Amino acid sequence: MRYSSSLKVNSVRNGLGIVALKAFAPGVTLCQIKGRVVTGETVWRYWDTDPRRGENCFRYDADHYLDPEGEIGAYANHSCNPNAGIVKTGIRLLLQAIRPIAAGAEITHDYTTLLGADDVWTMKCNCGEVICRKVVRSFSKLPAATLRRYRKLGIIPYFILKTG
Ligand SMILES: [Zn+2]
Repeated sequence: MRYSSSLKVNSVRNGLGIVALKAFAPGVTLCQIKGRVVTGETVWRYWDTDPRRGENCFRYDADHYLDPEGEIGAYANHSCNPNAGIVKTGIRLLLQAIRPIAAGAEITHDYTTLLGADDVWTMKCNCGEVICRKVVRSFSKLPAATLRRYRKLGIIPYFILKTG
């Protein structure tokens, strides 16, 4: 696994996660989410054989997902109060800071921002934030204020917005 020397995979609240080794300012790209582009059918197969792997996949476009197995993206955990978000530029998914991140903090993003209205997957949330929504599901179910904020930050890709 190759990634920035400013990031580390470490023990966090929910198993392993990505931890910042230095402070990051909002808007900074933390890393590219690398992996293999796979079809929705492949992700469905993961649910049967290796649910964790399915959970780790990032929606990549209308019909594809990115499987980060073996890359740092496999350790990117969800939070309902995230300090980072996923931005798609061209063919790349980038993990970007959306608020100041202190050295030692876990880097999280809101999985909701990559769950279209057509994604049926849901997950019980254990992020521990005061504003935890308890269930992770489609962006279209986000509280209006959160949705507005995420849209303004540009962390809900167009192909997700299109599904709503
Ligand atoms: Zn939560």
